[in-house]
Amino acid sequence: MRRKVTYDRNNKSREEVLAARKRNEEIRLKRKSRLTEEQKREIIEGYNGLDTVIHFANKYGKSRQGIYKVLWKAGIDTSKQNSRRKSICENCKKEVFKVKSQLRRYYKHHFCDYRCYYQWLNRNEKENPLIMSRYGSMKARTLVRQYFCLLRKNIVHHENRNQNDNRLENLRVFRDVGDHVRYHRDYDVEPIWDGRDPYGRRKKLHDRKRKVCLKRNLE
Ligand SMILES: [Zn+2]
Ligand SMILES: [Zn+2]
Repeated sequence: MRRKVTYDRNNKSREEVLAARKRNEEIRLKRKSRLTEEQKREIIEGYNGLDTVIHFANKYGKSRQGIYKVLWKAGIDTSKQNSRRKSICENCKKEVFKVKSQLRRYYKHHFCDYRCYYQWLNRNEKENPLIMSRYGSMKARTLVRQYFCLLRKNIVHHENRNQNDNRLENLRVFRDVGDHVRYHRDYDVEPIWDGRDPYGRRKKLHDRKRKVCLKRNLE
């Protein structure tokens, strides 16, 4: 007679197996339980706004398919082409249509295209500190290029964390995003360029490669 296997293969204790089984059963029951009319209304309203299906699935312990079923029953078209929402371009005040995910990502400001975005940036440089800091880091990159062959993947870091403080001694260059993050997390990482000693040991390399470098940066 074959013995019925009640234990997991991965050497789990009986208690662990039982606990896992109980958890699974709970999830199953939760998935089986029906959504109330109020919850359904909330899902429909949320979906017509910017909420995601996955958000509701996690909230009510349902599968995504279950949430979609609620939406379909209410006659909502969930295809991507029909999920565009109307918004207004921050620059020229024209109507623009964006996919929901785009609206979520660029939640604050929407634009027709890059031209509108840059026009708006220039106009709001002073009022918007966040944009201003972005501008500051662009200025820093331009500045560093006068001393060092900056590649696209290199990161310019502001030592006192002030993106608008572009004094040379406040600037460092890190090889890539990884090195930069490691530096912020207090790992022992050396910058590949140091504003305290802008010419430093890399002067020769810089002079030799300056032409190549300028060309590469213009590309
Ligand atoms: Zn526009
Ligand atoms: Zn940094």
